[in-house]
Amino acid sequence: MPETLPDLFAADGVLFDLDGVLTPTAEVHMRAWKAVFDEVFARWDIEPPYTDEDYFDYVDGKKRYDGVASLMRSRNVEVPWGSVDDPPEADTICGIGNRKNAAFATALRSEGIAPFPGSLALIERLQAAGVPLGVVSSSKNAEEVLAAAGIRSFFRVVVDGVVAEREHLASKPAPDMFRAGAEALGVDPARSVAVEDATSGAASAAAAGFAVVVGVDRGTGADALRAAGATLVVDDLSAFLHAADSTSASDPDSEETA
Ligand SMILES: [Mg+2]
Repeated sequence: MPETLPDLFAADGVLFDLDGVLTPTAEVHMRAWKAVFDEVFARWDIEPPYTDEDYFDYVDGKKRYDGVASLMRSRNVEVPWGSVDDPPEADTICGIGNRKNAAFATALRSEGIAPFPGSLALIERLQAAGVPLGVVSSSKNAEEVLAAAGIRSFFRVVVDGVVAEREHLASKPAPDMFRAGAEALGVDPARSVAVEDATSGAASAAAAGFAVVVGVDRGTGADALRAAGATLVVDDLSAFLHAADSTSASDPDSEETA
């Protein structure tokens, strides 16, 4: 843990990545994939059964359809690609991918998703201090996840996968998305803070010129995050609450630089 943390409360704005920073979304994705693949594997007698290890080896970090194709290849099962318009019932690569997306949406709605407690506490404090907050996420499900987590109202802007596609923003690690987030929030990146748990995101924020890039290490590793552009790394955003508690936390006019 760093000895001195920057004062987020003095920043012009704070932009948060969503998945892994505000919400433990990966778990919902993993459960949705497992439900879909368990059913397909059982029905087609595919061996060995699908495991969480397969998720990390073949699915995680890939585009949805590429993940399905990669996993099926690992079992030497040939599945037609199909088309992105395939219904979720279709036994094609795209159909299976769409099935997963439907399962993810259902899980979100039925089980909800709780934000990380430390993240929730921090955005509550920042909002109370009047610091403009935004979300910069590659996910096309960002609005749904924010709503399910009950935290959408904290954020003045959300630049997500839907916005990126519409406005032709290059995906992280290019600076486009964080730059667009700062612009939408009306803040200067050089006086603002970005918070990320992925190396691609930390690189994006650093390239966009953010004064502070906070890396949140949920398993990526502090060294990897620093190498990608994080100016500091914490295990959890509650670190900033403790720092705020030990100084004059709620003073929004603090002269300390972010
Ligand atoms: Mg993330």
